[in-house]
Amino acid sequence: MTDARSFSTLIYEIPEPGIARIRLNRPDRANAQDTELLYELNEAFDRAAHDDDVRVIVLAAEGKNFSAGHDLAETDSAGAMRRHRTVGTMCGFGCAGAEAQMAREEEIYTGFCERWRNIPKPTIAAVQGKCIAGGLMLAWPCDLIIAADDASFADPVVAFGVGGVEWFHHVYELGMRKAKEMLFTGDAINAQDALALGMVNQVVPREQLQEAALAMARKIAVKSRFALKMTKLALHGVADAAGREVAMKNAFHLHQLAHTHNLKVFSMLIDPTVLPEATRKAMAARLAAAEKAAGA
Ligand code: ZN
Repeated sequence: MTDARSFSTLIYEIPEPGIARIRLNRPDRANAQDTELLYELNEAFDRAAHDDDVRVIVLAAEGKNFSAGHDLAETDSAGAMRRHRTVGTMCGFGCAGAEAQMAREEEIYTGFCERWRNIPKPTIAAVQGKCIAGGLMLAWPCDLIIAADDASFADPVVAFGVGGVEWFHHVYELGMRKAKEMLFTGDAINAQDALALGMVNQVVPREQLQEAALAMARKIAVKSRFALKMTKLALHGVADAAGREVAMKNAFHLHQLAHTHNLKVFSMLIDPTVLPEATRKAMAARLAAAEKAAGA
């Protein structure tokens, strides 16, 4: 069953009673996240959270890869922001430079990730193929992760002059030593290593991924909704009492410093040295539009 109100970047469905499934649906772009997708995903999570009949939420993705991260070639972030009535962010909302970028990223990256992490219902990510940089910010906020045997996880953004993705959850997912290796080298972690590190719950053959996620969801969906919520709060309280939220904010502020540094040195938010020419041009055009809209 598919919900009547359809999304342009994802599919929302109730595959079985008690289970909502959200499928990212930009397979031609490897499910790269443009602004529209992030707002729609937030809306879809809200819909599942608000539906009393939904006990468990599965996040899946169409195509070969789970998500290639931020869509750096996006051209209509301003349009998406208008459609979703966001305020205070870059591209035509009256501010530019570090202020605008920080506001935008606080909303659509760290803000959304924290919000999704704290949904008071269990969430399960079903990950296949590549899960790169911003892709981690979709899988990691989920409570459980089931990986296909072809899944790999990487955050290569140090190569772009920024210290890791905005939602800096690496240490909580991998432990300190492996988080350092992932960030310093940019190397991908394969599904089996992710399992050994405790970053994913199960690894299954690619063709069994969706069924494995549903099987896990079924087991959870029959439990008490309120008990699940309390348990999730208690578990999250362990990390948060140990300072997770403050650590995340510190990392985010350093991430913003890196963007500002790159703006000064390269006139771009990231070090463009390793980017393809077309991506560089799209990013420069977006920034120029934002500056113009802000009257800078
Ligand atoms: Zn950023």
